[in-house]
Parts: sequence; structure tokens; C-alpha cells
Amino acid sequence: MTVRDILTVGHPVLRQRAGEVDDTAIGSAEIQELIADLIDTMRHANGAGLAANQIGVPWRVAVIEVVKDNPRYPYKPPIPLTVVINPVIEPLDDELVEINEGCLSVPDLRGSVRRHVNVRVRSFDEHGARRDDIKRGLTAGTFQHECDHLDGVLFLDRVDDPTTFTTWAQFARFGRDEFVERITAFVDRVGS
Ligand code: ZN
Repeated sequence: MTVRDILTVGHPVLRQRAGEVDDTAIGSAEIQELIADLIDTMRHANGAGLAANQIGVPWRVAVIEVVKDNPRYPYKPPIPLTVVINPVIEPLDDELVEINEGCLSVPDLRGSVRRHVNVRVRSFDEHGARRDDIKRGLTAGTFQHECDHLDGVLFLDRVDDPTTFTTWAQFARFGRDEFVERITAFVDRVGS
């Protein structure tokens, strides 16, 4: 278990589609060590999630966890630690929500993206079992952000209005209160 360096925007591996993991290899020491390193690195950086290519490993593995009062995203409802391998996301309807996002691979920048509110996530878990879950609200947005990484997509690419880009300090000064008020009401309505 090791805290690894997180690659930042401009590194080519972040722009490559990560490869499928052979489901018979999920129990291998290599994949299990990768999962452990992803968890350690995500927690060390106070992230809400981390994809394998963010630490330079081009395979379709990501971890997601939101602890209560996460310092980067205190308004996000908690998400228990979840490992997704070869995840496939399918929107369940056309409902979208505008979310102000950041990313450990894009230091000191945030921007507004629209995400699907209701999605189905099919994946393998860390034991190689198939999983088929419905995710909603901000939690669905977090899963979409991490799965985008595995396709070489960053939140930057999904920002429709570039004037929403802010540093974290300017977001705290000028954007956070309004966003948190709106998104808290949304979370109360959707439940996650
Ligand atoms: Zn990210």
C-alpha cells in the first residue's frame, strides 16, 4: 500500500482510453496492489474518487469514496468505499444537473458541468463479482467523473461555459455559497 503521485493534465496517459481488465485477473496481486494504492492515494489527497490512469496505470479500475465532511467537497453526501472495474455507465433518463467540479489531476481549477442525475453502473467489484447498481444525484455525478477518466476524458472537456472556470480560492469567495445552497436543495430532493 503506497501513496502514489497523481498525474496532472497534460500527461498523455490521462488522455488515453484505459484498457479492460481481464475479469480472471482481478484477484491477481498486481490488480489488488493497484486497488490498494488507489485507495491510499485517494484518501491521502482527500479525493472523492481516483481512476487508475491518474496514477499512470492505463487499466479500467477506479475507486470512489466520500467521507462525511470531505474537506474538498463538504456538500457531497457520503459514499461508501466502492471499487469499480470495467465500469459501464448508462443514463436512465434525460434529467441533468449542473455540478461545480474539481479534479485531483487538474490542480486549483473548478468548473460547471452537466451530469446525468440517474444512471445505471455495471462493473466488477474488487472480488471479481458482477455488480449492477443505480446511482443518483451528486453520487451519480461522481461515478460519471471517474468513469470519464477511464475514457481519457477530463471534466474540463465537459464545461459548456468556460466563464465558470475558477480557482478554488475564487470559488470560495464568489461561487461557493450560491452553489452549495442550490446543490443542497437538490441533494435533499434526490436523496443522494
Ligand atoms: Zn478527476
